[in-house]
Amino acid sequence: MASDPDCLFCKIVSGEVPSTRVYEDERTVAFMDINPATRGHLLVVPRAHAADLHAIDAEDLQACALAAQELAGRMPEQLGADGVNLLNCAGSVAWQTVFHFHLHVIPRYENDPLRLPWHPTPGDRDEIAAAAQDLGA
Ligand code: AMP
Ligand code: ZN
Repeated sequence: MASDPDCLFCKIVSGEVPSTRVYEDERTVAFMDINPATRGHLLVVPRAHAADLHAIDAEDLQACALAAQELAGRMPEQLGADGVNLLNCAGSVAWQTVFHFHLHVIPRYENDPLRLPWHPTPGDRDEIAAAAQDLGA
């Protein structure tokens, strides 16, 4: 399977870099974003390295979309979310900062302060872990 030794998300997939995993299957891994835009913000990535939307294998893209749908489906009941944003950034001009394809799954809450573009700031580790537990981690 394609892997890039210099890629942060490949290292998260392999376990070399720690993450708070909330889901995994044959093709994908999902983990909490360390700079959550809202409570429960997570990322779905393919196990195989692909830099971006243009490079990802069609079956991996499909698997990521299905994993995102599954996780988004937990958000209303398990987090009390009122809505969900799915976001992909392809290219630095489109705010991509990590060049291993990922879907942001961002729960939204009535009156939450999130506006695009958001400015990532580190989240509280315990609070991220608590949101992951609510999601079934
Ligand atoms: P993007 O700007 O679309 O490329 O998103 C990259 C995302 O990865 C950002 O929301 C970061 O907060 C997130 N991120 C960066 N490093 C880590 C990490 N070690 N664990 C979890 N999320 C990360
Ligand atoms: Zn990678």
